[in-house]
Amino acid sequence: MPRPLRATIHLSALRHNLDVARRHAAHSHILAVIKANGYGHGMLRVARALAAADGFAVLTVQEAIALREAGFTQEILLLEGFFTPDELPLLVQHRLSSVVHAQWQLDALLHFPSAVNIPLWLKTNSGMNRLGFQPDTFPATLASLRQAGAKLTLMTHFARADENDGIAAQLSRFNTLTQHAKLPRSMANSAALLCCPETHADWVRPGIMLYGASPLPEQSAAQLGLQPAMTLGSELIALRNIKAGDEVGYGGTFKAPCDMRIGVVACGYADGYPRHAPSGTPVLVNGLRSRVVGRVSMDMLTVDLSNIPDANIGAPVTLWGQGLPVEEVAAAAGTISYELLCAVAQRVPMVEAE
Ligand SMILES: *Cc1c(COP(=O)(O)O)cnc(C)c1O
Repeated sequence: MPRPLRATIHLSALRHNLDVARRHAAHSHILAVIKANGYGHGMLRVARALAAADGFAVLTVQEAIALREAGFTQEILLLEGFFTPDELPLLVQHRLSSVVHAQWQLDALLHFPSAVNIPLWLKTNSGMNRLGFQPDTFPATLASLRQAGAKLTLMTHFARADENDGIAAQLSRFNTLTQHAKLPRSMANSAALLCCPETHADWVRPGIMLYGASPLPEQSAAQLGLQPAMTLGSELIALRNIKAGDEVGYGGTFKAPCDMRIGVVACGYADGYPRHAPSGTPVLVNGLRSRVVGRVSMDMLTVDLSNIPDANIGAPVTLWGQGLPVEEVAAAAGTISYELLCAVAQRVPMVEAE
């Protein structure tokens, strides 16, 4: 028998979550963010499931070309633009759209004869202080791109859309800067899409919500009507009874407070399960809630079976997904759902389910 660990991708969940995004932002185009291999779900697989999206956003030219070669004809945006000027002919050849966030990109575009053929998303820094033109240089930048005949969309990105009132300052700065430009605009990530209709504008850019994880700390994915798109599942491969005082795993970080039954699960940090998940991190065995005990190893982890006496070798284990929100596991491990989803290792087989 092969190793039982696998990631199941629920295609109907992806489609459903896109519908949720559409219902919230009915008057906006949807740019489905599928960077980082579709947040770990497989970029082309996700694109096929989300083919009804108005466009896709990726990081690299290579990803964008792979989408074109798979037959996708909608808008494809490079979220950080081109990384070197010698990528520009490829952008024209494959009809790719590019973010412009820095002066060196602007200079390269103004020197490139076919630049007018590249739809540009001019990015302004409205307060996150990562990428984008400063508000004071923005008008001149906009003017030079208009003069060059570029097809433009104006964009910014929120640093704190997941917090109460987290968008107010950035929204007001962006609105002040762009309100008279008469150009399409884009601001919202998943959190802003779900909580702040005033950010929807012409294009919304949902990522994490399409994969069925909640971007909002105070609302679960289920409360938002989202369905998990990935279930990371495995099985018990060994069982043992231990005595009070026995230790489990490397470093003996878990010491049994009483006699216990322990199960070994085929999933470790080399599969992308977070090594920092402490004892107590939730897991499902036979569909029942249990917890990780002891340190996560490279290829295995150990769980408490004290309350699941029926669990035998081969019992199904859900590390996250249907029945166990990935956000809960992430929170227990001191990280976020994004990181867990993106980190699922190449060696984990991925299977598709409706
Ligand atoms: C990744 C990304 C998004 C999507 O963010 P989520 O929080 O996953 O919805 C949107 N816009 C930009 C610029 C991004 O880099």
